[in-house]
Amino acid sequence: MDFQKLVELYEELEQTSSGNKMRELLSDFFKKVPPGEIGLVTYLTLGRLASEFDDVVLGMAEKSVLKAIALAAGQDLSKIQKMIRETGDAGSVAEKMWQKKPRPLVSTSPLTIHELFEKLHKIASSSGPGSQDLKTNLLASLLSKASAKEAKYVVRIALSQLRMGVGDMTVLDALAIAYTGDKKNKEFLEKAYNICPDVKIIAETLVAKGLKGLEKIDLHVGRPIKMMLAQRVQELEEIPEKMEGKIAVEAKFDGERVQTHKDQKGKITLFSRRLENITHQFPDLVEYLKKYLQPKEFVLEGEIIAVDEKENPLPFQTLMQRRRKYDITEYVKKIPLQLKVFDFLFIDGKSLLHESYEKRWHYLEKSINKNNHLMPADRIITESVEEIDEFFQKMLKKKYEGIIAKSLAGEYQAGTRGWQWIKWKKEYVKEMVDTFDLVIVGAYYGRGRRSGVYGALLCAAYNQKKDSFETVCKVGTGFTDKLLEELPKKLKKYEMNAKPARINCKKEMEPNVWFEPKLVIEILAAEITKSPFHSAELALRFPRFVRFREDKKAEQATTIEEIKEMVREK
Ligand code: ATP
Repeated sequence: MDFQKLVELYEELEQTSSGNKMRELLSDFFKKVPPGEIGLVTYLTLGRLASEFDDVVLGMAEKSVLKAIALAAGQDLSKIQKMIRETGDAGSVAEKMWQKKPRPLVSTSPLTIHELFEKLHKIASSSGPGSQDLKTNLLASLLSKASAKEAKYVVRIALSQLRMGVGDMTVLDALAIAYTGDKKNKEFLEKAYNICPDVKIIAETLVAKGLKGLEKIDLHVGRPIKMMLAQRVQELEEIPEKMEGKIAVEAKFDGERVQTHKDQKGKITLFSRRLENITHQFPDLVEYLKKYLQPKEFVLEGEIIAVDEKENPLPFQTLMQRRRKYDITEYVKKIPLQLKVFDFLFIDGKSLLHESYEKRWHYLEKSINKNNHLMPADRIITESVEEIDEFFQKMLKKKYEGIIAKSLAGEYQAGTRGWQWIKWKKEYVKEMVDTFDLVIVGAYYGRGRRSGVYGALLCAAYNQKKDSFETVCKVGTGFTDKLLEELPKKLKKYEMNAKPARINCKKEMEPNVWFEPKLVIEILAAEITKSPFHSAELALRFPRFVRFREDKKAEQATTIEEIKEMVREK
């Protein structure tokens, strides 16, 4: 397929501000894609070269991309830099240059998506000394084959800034419509995607083998699965009511969730809550996993926590200092960590996804050799609310965040927030106060003391059913002066000229600046009320910024369904 066809779709998608129209455009397009190319097309509509968990990062620095444009257009870099200062968008600069001048190397054959894909992969995989220049040259040669509109999007893909507003769930919706004729079947695509979060594999399996083929997708060592999540309750007493029989109550640690995979060759990969490959950030943890686990091949989950010299837990913010590009070895010494293991999903050739928690725990305990770095999570088994509360108080004394109750009979439900896991945190005990993880979708200019910085942020919850973002509050408190100063810079790369299609917002709340829904923050709020001003029709009262949740993607924010559930329970 020629890239030009995809570019026509990009242009249409860029113009639309309606989520439904976007899905319609995508599904109409998917219907026309040759079966062998559907996988590539799904990646490219997301502006990606691989699944998110594959370590294929294109994201070239703007400077290198501008150099490539100058090179391919036969222009001075200073001229290109001047144009970018005026427009702010490198894609449009390339488009303008290509419109004005006949390209220096005019090719006869059109650019196909296979060729584009292959060349972009080559750019992504060049590393080591001199690789920046090599990347620039490769991009320049690719651009010289492109038309004006193609150049615009090649540049955006190279910068990892396609900004079309299409998410993985949008693609699944469109695939369901295109290949099964019924949007309702998205449910089956999503189920398979939770176990295999790679749109290319889902699209190719659906096209080749239909819904039956998707049912057979299972856990594969080296490929992360979406993590199981916990529900919340209003009263501690509800926990035994929601779960029958005996339950396990584990400590809830305030650290970073990790899914670790070890394949038969001994290769260990660590995946974050967002399913990013974070192996290189925790070399110490990789060593512990090699040393203290018996199975040759496994997938396990746990929480990484920072600890002091006496092995007492340190706050989440301390651990976050370990998430860095440089000085990793220095920080391994500076901030030691522990892994509290709480689930086992695969052991020596056998998937445990459909085994009960009880059985998975049995494998977990059997597999770990005693040591001080990596251990089973602290837990008790009980049926009594009193014992649950006692354990909760004990865990708070140990400086943990709270507890998670788990049904002994429960299977691992990938990507699902169900009643098999229920969390109970210290915030819940402080009356009416609760935390929400919301997506920043807009900002309002500050006034008075805050002029020149943002005065407040518009935040949204995720609507899972509609794959959209609904506004729920405007937050202006909880920010330090330093953070207020930094916010415009931090948000700059997500700025959009118009409202992104998947954001729903009422006229009354329209912000001065729109953002692509990407950045998630934790908000503490005192109450949930009905609201005619927010598209969620609910609003959070007295919201206060707590921290960034960079470990979450926009689609992992608190959902509208969860907020409604909280209202029902009050
Ligand atoms: P929160 O902000 O409350 O941590 P969340 O949305 O990140 O919530 P939930 O599924 O609601 O995630 O709560 C479970 C989270 O708690 C996990 O993602 C994990 O990071 C953390 N956690 C800590 N201890 C445990 C444990 N013993 N079992 C499962 N998850 C745990």
